[in-house]
Amino acid sequence: MHLLVAALLALQSPAASLGFEPGADSNLADWKQVSGYMNTLAQRSPMVHVDTLGKTTEGRPFLLLTITSQANQQRLAEIKAVQALLADPRRLSDTAFERMRKTQPAVILISNNIHSTEVASSQMGMTLAYRLTTDPELRRLLDSVVVLMIPSMNPDGLDTVVSWYRRYKGTRYEGGPLPWLYHKYIGHDNNRDWFMLTQVETRLVTRMLYKEWFPEIVYDVHQMGTNGVRLFVPPFQDPVNPNIDPAIVAGINLVGAQMASALYDAGMTGVAHQLTYDLWWHGGFRSAPTRHNMIGILTEAASTRLGSPITLTLDSLRQPARGVNYAEPWPGGVWHLGDIVRYELITSESLVRLAARDRVNVIDRFVGLGRRAVEAGLAGNPFAYVLPPEQRDPEAWATLANVLAAGGVEVYRAAESFTAEGRRYPAGALVIPMAQPYRADAKDLLEPQHYTPVNDRPPYDVAGWTLPFTMGVRADVVNGPFSTNLVRVDSVIAPPGKIEGSGDVFILQNRTNAESRAVAALLAAGQSVAVVGDSLVVRGARARAILSEQAARHGFDVTAVREAPAGARWRERLPRIGLYQPWTANIDEGWTRWLFEQYGISYMTLHDGDIKRGGLRQRFDVIVLPSEDATSMVVGVDSTRIPLQYAGGLGESGANAISEFVRGGGTLVCLDASSNFAIARLNLPVVNVLGGVASGPQSLRFYAPGSIFGTVLGGSDSVTVGVSDSLQIYFENSAAFTVSAPARALATYPEQPLRSGYARYQERLTGKASLVEAPVGSGRVILFGFRPQFRGQTHGTFKLLFNAVLLAAP
Ligand SMILES: [Zn+2]
Repeated sequence: MHLLVAALLALQSPAASLGFEPGADSNLADWKQVSGYMNTLAQRSPMVHVDTLGKTTEGRPFLLLTITSQANQQRLAEIKAVQALLADPRRLSDTAFERMRKTQPAVILISNNIHSTEVASSQMGMTLAYRLTTDPELRRLLDSVVVLMIPSMNPDGLDTVVSWYRRYKGTRYEGGPLPWLYHKYIGHDNNRDWFMLTQVETRLVTRMLYKEWFPEIVYDVHQMGTNGVRLFVPPFQDPVNPNIDPAIVAGINLVGAQMASALYDAGMTGVAHQLTYDLWWHGGFRSAPTRHNMIGILTEAASTRLGSPITLTLDSLRQPARGVNYAEPWPGGVWHLGDIVRYELITSESLVRLAARDRVNVIDRFVGLGRRAVEAGLAGNPFAYVLPPEQRDPEAWATLANVLAAGGVEVYRAAESFTAEGRRYPAGALVIPMAQPYRADAKDLLEPQHYTPVNDRPPYDVAGWTLPFTMGVRADVVNGPFSTNLVRVDSVIAPPGKIEGSGDVFILQNRTNAESRAVAALLAAGQSVAVVGDSLVVRGARARAILSEQAARHGFDVTAVREAPAGARWRERLPRIGLYQPWTANIDEGWTRWLFEQYGISYMTLHDGDIKRGGLRQRFDVIVLPSEDATSMVVGVDSTRIPLQYAGGLGESGANAISEFVRGGGTLVCLDASSNFAIARLNLPVVNVLGGVASGPQSLRFYAPGSIFGTVLGGSDSVTVGVSDSLQIYFENSAAFTVSAPARALATYPEQPLRSGYARYQERLTGKASLVEAPVGSGRVILFGFRPQFRGQTHGTFKLLFNAVLLAAP
């Protein structure tokens, strides 16, 4: 007893440690302070354990806290081992289960601050950790529950935001917008990466979730705009994705009701249900777990201006009427960071209480969900998906399998050839049986989505995401049972490719993204590359060495011949590529930059000032404009909202400099919305038929909020060399064009182009161009009416962007 008291006395509250109460006006703790506090707590409290899961994108430690009773801390390895069995009931005997449900705590995860400007939860976590270990009532609950906490899902971003806030505190820009992304590559899209797992942070947490800890409930803490309800808690609004088990939906509703009830018991107001956020979308941190038998909870608090309070009069608020989904409106007034912290502390503690109180239910539900998933898979429709080894792009095939496996899905390799529903598959085919606990995840990623609006509402996020379509990978549905010899695989690599034939000239089919990586490496090394018909021809003293290494590593074949075809126009160096980065924290720019780095394509970042300076043609061969509204590109952010050096956009001088660049022989690549800029500024004979008021969520108008469409290539060009004649593109409120000469359509929409997701009046796309080439002066413009690199998912269309920057330059 004496020792325990001494240990407790040594625990400092966050206020004592930081010098301010978390959530106090004008004070934000940065990652050093937050992680420092958590580490000290772990050193002094036997109830707190800290793990470093790895390093963030920019090299900071990524932390996971485990908070539970001292007795549980001493048997964490056993608790984890039991969680793994509960997650996969096929390995669980009835007697073992009976024993485990008597002693196993519930396991929940609270994850803070994935969106860095939604900063309150990063501060709240310190108080929560302190209270869990010092408040007598909460401490008692920790015999029955393990609380996992991620203090910040993006420590790099927390520091970015806190330093920005501190720098402009006390000026007119206090609490204002950042001119750059708060995640190095993907900014706000870090909460849209939860099945594709392209980023370090996403992968670290995903491994913890589905390979190590298997929590039954996951709580993702967010903030939204300033002037609506004070806090959204579930129930979510319709529709519900058909792959989500009803027990998950009910479990989410239960947690939401518990949270709301705790808030009102504590005298809070302005708590809303069934608002904005739906249960359709896959890819968010709270939605991926719902495909893994876990209850995924989201709350969204009204924001302040970072650490600074805001005042809202009752008339300036947009609140629903009082009712079952909004029991007590907020009366308006001053809203502080500390208010958000208070609301989030109540929701978090109510979740801990519920998990402790309902421990046995929580465990039983989790096991029941896993069992039902396995039974549903055995019943067939579908029974399995088969990914045959003969694929256009073997690396995309391997990546798809690896994405599934990293998300905990069981992937198997056929050790022998087999027949399924009359189709013959060779040994090496990958099989994803549906009789597995994470069936919902696999099925939802492999099948087409058919979004059905409720009350004519668009989905909260995208409507479709089918990976075989976006990645250009053949995946066959097998509805009835078959048997073959299957071997579980943790990861898949493309079978090594090779150089066949002899000679010092090399022919590439250019069908794989890996060949673009090789072309970038060849050109960077001063080797020569030419487009000849449907293929690429390569020569140079080091070409064989580079190609044999890349072909072996990335799975493409090369043919060596003795002589180059006549008339080849050789390209002898890497085009000088400029990538525009507006000061608007443009996520599409971040994804483009990430993609170029993944494939070894060198580029230079261009800011407004670099472009306004002019003389672009002397410095660049290709300029890429990420998707950005044409007006925003020219006028930027107003200097009343952002410091002068980041205000004002390209202006007339920047727009003219780009025009001069193209007329002088440069290649301008416009992604999606930036096409409108080029059409207007360069007087292209092209019309975006969906531009301006013609698209939008209004009924009676074409609308497609994030869907996959088929498109047909036509009109041979270096942009399309090696690309399949028929491919699926990612469309997110994108563009569609009509063209007249000398502009040309390189790809056109067929009839009924929708393949996955949702489109209202899809017939408006039929016959319109999705990809356009337009000569201007001695240069050219390439317009993408879609997202060739959407969220790092669209391996099937990366190639078009690679070709555009590597091969389409003068
Ligand atoms: Zn958010």
